[in-house]
Amino acid sequence: MDRSGFVIQTPELASLAVTGTSERFPVRRIYCVGRNYVAHVREMGGNEERDPPIFFQKPADSIVADGGTVPYPTRTEDFHHEMEMVIALKSGGSNIAEAQALDHIFGYGVALDMTRRDIQGNGKPWEIAKSFDHSCPCGPITPVEKSGHIASGEIKLTVNGETRQVSDIDLLIWKVPEIIANLSTYFELKAGDIILTGTPHGVGPVKPGDVLVGTIAGLEKLTVHIGDRQA
Ligand code: MN
Repeated sequence: MDRSGFVIQTPELASLAVTGTSERFPVRRIYCVGRNYVAHVREMGGNEERDPPIFFQKPADSIVADGGTVPYPTRTEDFHHEMEMVIALKSGGSNIAEAQALDHIFGYGVALDMTRRDIQGNGKPWEIAKSFDHSCPCGPITPVEKSGHIASGEIKLTVNGETRQVSDIDLLIWKVPEIIANLSTYFELKAGDIILTGTPHGVGPVKPGDVLVGTIAGLEKLTVHIGDRQA
């Protein structure tokens, strides 16, 4: 993008690696779905009925690339991992029908919805619990032509080699087409939007020095390091 006409210069557009190419996937917005696996809803003390999906956003520049470091954030003593599958959109719209939703997907990936759990109070805004700097480690996006659409398969997170979260994508309460259709009734989705689809059970704390490895069957894995506490 030519920014020579701007009065100041800003950081580069956020982007993600694309499996099998040197080209990048540009990120416009990051949407996230809350409470989308029954066993995770239970562990958070919620109602396990199929409630309407909860949506929130993270800033695009909260992305941490594969192999990167997430500094342990300020003002939390309970910093948690949430392992999630990512949908990357190549096109968008409003009121997208479920039957057309998959047509808007460029590819899929692996991400972490890092969370200051002790600040995620019920009834309070989730902004500082969920949408802080470096809160969205995200691996390469694998194009649909390579992976096919991901509706099932193992989703797993290890911390220092120990399995912390393991489930299956087919246990999503709101499936991928339903997520896109529902979200597009609230926001006009556009090319470059990515959607984190929610975490399975097993969320828990991390500490400086931890190494997190997230895998989803058929996709590129994500490795991130937890850095020192921020002053
Ligand atoms: Mn989450």
